[in-house]
Formats: sequence, C-alpha cells, structure tokens
Amino acid sequence: MSDIKRLTEQLVKGDRRALSRAITLVESSHPKDRKHALDLLDAIMPHTENSTRIGISGSPGVGKSTFIEAYGQHLIEAGQRIAALTIDPSSKLTGGSILGDKTRMPVLSNHPDAFIRPTPSGSLLGGVARRSREVIALCEAAGFDTILIETVGVGQSETEVANMTDCYLLLLQPGSGDTLQGIKRGIMELADIIVVNKADGKLLAAARESATHYLRALTYLASKLPDWKRPVILCSSTENIGMEEVSAQVSAYLNLAKDKGVFAQKRKDQRLSWLEDETIAELVGRFKTDNEIQTQYKKITQQIEQGQSPARVAARFVDKLIRR
Ligand code: GDP
Repeated sequence: MSDIKRLTEQLVKGDRRALSRAITLVESSHPKDRKHALDLLDAIMPHTENSTRIGISGSPGVGKSTFIEAYGQHLIEAGQRIAALTIDPSSKLTGGSILGDKTRMPVLSNHPDAFIRPTPSGSLLGGVARRSREVIALCEAAGFDTILIETVGVGQSETEVANMTDCYLLLLQPGSGDTLQGIKRGIMELADIIVVNKADGKLLAAARESATHYLRALTYLASKLPDWKRPVILCSSTENIGMEEVSAQVSAYLNLAKDKGVFAQKRKDQRLSWLEDETIAELVGRFKTDNEIQTQYKKITQQIEQGQSPARVAARFVDKLIRR
C-alpha cells in the first residue's frame, strides 16, 4: 500500500498523529512533498465539508485564546470534537509566532477531543488562506465537528478568514466610545456575531456600555444574511460566562443561513475562490521557479532599457507564454 493511501486511512479514522503528519505535508514547500500532498487532498475530498467552520478574530490581548479555551471546552462537553487553528500573519515578520504557543490553551492542548495547531502563514505565496483551507479539509477528514479558525486582528487576514468560514465572530473588549472609532468599519461588517469579552468584575459595567455602543453602530451596517440581526453578546472567558449564549447564537445564525440558502452558496463561493487563488498562486509560482520562463523574462527586461513601455512588454510576454 502506498504511504499516501495508508496516511489517508489513518487520517479518516481520526488518528491525530496522522493528522499532524498530513498537515506538515501540505505545509511543506518542497515540490516532491507537494505532489504527495495533492494526492492526499484528492483522496480525502469525500470526507470533507462536514464540519462547522467558525472564524474568530480580535486585536491582540482581547482574549481570543482564553475564549477559545473556554468555548472549545463548552463544545466538547456538548459532545463535539474540535480543532482550533491559529492563523498568524505576523509569523513572517517576527520569525516566531505570537499565536502559535501551545501554552495559550493548556486544557485544549491536552484534551483528547481537541486538536490545536498554529498555521504560520506569512511566508506563503498567495496569502494566509492558501494552506489554511487545506488544513481545514484535513481536520474535517479526521472527523472534527467544529473547526475554530483564529486570526489576530491585523491586516487582511480577517477578510481571508471570513472567506473560509461559515460564521464569523468578532471579539471585542470593554472600552470607551472612542475605542469604537478605532474599530475598522470593514471588520464590523464582516462579523456575524459580536462578542464583548471580559464582561466580569470591574469591567462589567464598561462591557455593558460598550455593548450598547456596538449595537448602535451595527444598526448602520447591513448584514449579509437577510433577516439576521447581529447580536452583541457579553461574555467572560475567564469566568466561563456567556458560552451557552455564544453557542445558541452560532446555531441560530447557521440555521437561518441554511434556510435562506446562504450557507450552501457561501461554501460554493469558497470552493470557487479556493480554485481561483490556487490557480493564480500556481501561475505566479511557476513564473518565479521555471528556468525557461525566467530566462525569457531576463531577455525582455532589456526591452524596457531600450525605452519600450513596461506595460506593453509585459502584455506581449504573457501573450507569448500563454500560447506556448
Ligand atoms: P489574545 O491575545 O487575544 O489571545 O488574548 P489572551 O487570551 O491571551 O488574553 C489576554 C489577557 O486578557 C490575559 O491576561 C487574559 O487572562 C485576559 N483575559 C482573557 N479573557 C478574559 C476575561 O474574560 N476576563 C478578564 N478579566 N480577563 C480576560
């Protein structure tokens, strides 16, 4: 039996070591590994798309990992197996990972029904989404019911995560009305559910006040799901308060999205954008690594030295490549 066939069998049985190996394989940039990764992804396709994918975003320090630790345990108590993937767009800049540290979620990290995995994404051509989609598919094949996909609230990663998930939670913390101004409108628009974390102790009153501000702000932003009034939920991840409410609202959102056909349409759109992103990334990748293309490209650089417009030279070059 081929290694990939064996890996696929172990993976669909829910073997965690097989899942870790499979993820390492799809994350590898070595061309030979890539070939095996594509075989593996083909083989697991029939076992994918059966989970709920939840995006979780928020600024550093808002309490994302504490929230996932609490919410994840709540889901496990309800009988689910959960995978938590952390997408860290800063990993390229810092050379390390601010989200990847396993000790961020000590209980889940050691729980048999949870799987935690950082996805260092920054170095990959094609943005944060590229390998994350494959990792989601692997987790689904391994039988995880809910995939929590966490991203730190910087850059364009929120949009990409929103485009990979069924329901998107934005985590905020208590702050003055001024803080609200600082939250980008685009990020509020992406959210299906707003969670005001740290609604406990001395922060409770401020959390209530913030929730009122956020609710007011939301009335000016239309939801992408018709008839969905985006809720603002108060919760405390350290005190384990509000997790049932988050669960209930996620279920309500998913039920409505399924009723309205939005859920199926979103998944379909996501498959199409996966195809498009991969196609573009493959094209760019081949451009950068194919010796023959690079030799030809060096030649055309001389044409711009001679005064021809770069736009014209590029268009002619691509015409020629596509016809080859
Ligand atoms: P992340 O950077 O968004 O992942 O934030 P963390 O989960 O690491 O939390 C940042 C800090 O906020 C830590 O000191 C947590 O203990 C604290 N924190 C997280 N959730 C809560 C909460 O519900 N209430 C309070 N009071 N503190 C919290």
